[in-house]
Amino acid sequence: MLNLEKSAAAFAEAKTLMPGGVNSPVRSYASVGSTPPFIGRAEGSKIYDIDGNGYIDYVGSWGPMVVGHAHPRVVKALQEAAARGTSYGAPTLIESELAKLIMQVYPSMERIRMVNSGTEATMSALRLARGYTGREKIVKFIGCYHGHSDSLLVNAGSGMATFGTPSSPGVTRGTAADTIAVPYNDEAAIESVMERCGSEVAAVIVEPVAGNMGLVLPRQGYLRRLRELTEEHGALLIFDEVMCGFRASLGGAQAAYGITPDLTCLGKIIGGGLPVAAYGGRRDIMQRISPEGPVYQAGTLSGNPLAMTAGLETLRIITEEPEEGEADYSRQLTIRTKKLLLGWQEKAKKAGVVIQAHQAGSMFGIFFHEHEVWNYDDASASDQEAFKVWFHAMLEQGIYLAPSQFETLFLSGAHTDEDVERTIEAAEQGFKAVAEMGK
Ligand SMILES: *Cc1c(COP(=O)(O)O)cnc(C)c1O
Repeated sequence: MLNLEKSAAAFAEAKTLMPGGVNSPVRSYASVGSTPPFIGRAEGSKIYDIDGNGYIDYVGSWGPMVVGHAHPRVVKALQEAAARGTSYGAPTLIESELAKLIMQVYPSMERIRMVNSGTEATMSALRLARGYTGREKIVKFIGCYHGHSDSLLVNAGSGMATFGTPSSPGVTRGTAADTIAVPYNDEAAIESVMERCGSEVAAVIVEPVAGNMGLVLPRQGYLRRLRELTEEHGALLIFDEVMCGFRASLGGAQAAYGITPDLTCLGKIIGGGLPVAAYGGRRDIMQRISPEGPVYQAGTLSGNPLAMTAGLETLRIITEEPEEGEADYSRQLTIRTKKLLLGWQEKAKKAGVVIQAHQAGSMFGIFFHEHEVWNYDDASASDQEAFKVWFHAMLEQGIYLAPSQFETLFLSGAHTDEDVERTIEAAEQGFKAVAEMGK
């Protein structure tokens, strides 16, 4: 049995200080009915708790740690930057350097604005879309997560595609009424919404590869249809690539699927583990942002030199030209991720457990589900009890997975073939435990 004595004591104290003992809900392990390990340090592909347990980490701080933890180059760059002062609230060279590097990989982003979180990026992109189009409604997809700003914390109302209802107390009905929530991967649903009220829609915002209901891929032609419909009705198409940016492929989902959105939101990876996100896109739209235009958006710590440094060094590592005859960084991650997932599928089959395994570049995940998973309804019909058993069996064996079936797992450049082998071996026990449930 894993010894989590110190973590349990730390959690008990934390609960007297912070709601649920955490600063972001999913960390509490409420969904798997146990106590979270408290983390003391991390290095490469491994994360270590304060009880002295080490794990192979597939959470990667929920996505950002694409080069692994405490990468020597990132650490060195940060140390040097810290010695030059941690914040000035004034323009710096490094902001332009990071902007240029991002825009090289994401040519649809002709102008970019740095912010501090994915929430801020999507919220600002929507304000911009509204300011630019002079329209008020937005369309989002059920099961896509875009951070916790009010207009995005909205559920579908009754009926298949209706004006939203707040999904959290504190979100006003007025705000929710301007958000239309539609099922993901359902062309007929979005077509009917756009037919009915397309002329009022400022923007359609989508996770082009959805990672917040578990990993769900877009159906063939779906993103292209969104592009056509938004163009037809004069609405902007916003790709929220906060998670899938630099993951689904180096150039994100927009490169992988060959679709050019009007605006893009990035986050997670572009801060290399520090709080950075960004939104950007067509020049004529971005020119509406203050101080060039009238749409207001600002940030005391936006473009912070430490955060820019961690992001820039991380992106430099993953965009470097590969050695002669080697695959580039993101291709290598894709190949290793595929190997891991194939190994899991084989072990599941051997144990007689049916899973749906999904991959997009270095993002991956499984559903304990008999049938294909294409949207939120499918995902939520997965076997939650099986997931709990699997999760704990893996944790016991030193494999650190997200404590929910509705999250995505990530591979980093620090994960070795040996890590992958160990993780596949552990999966044999994990699936066996699932198969033995209730016996
Ligand atoms: C994580 C995430 C966000 C929110 O980012 P925060 O930095 O947590 O505010 C928004 N959109 C997507 C797709 C995400 O995965």
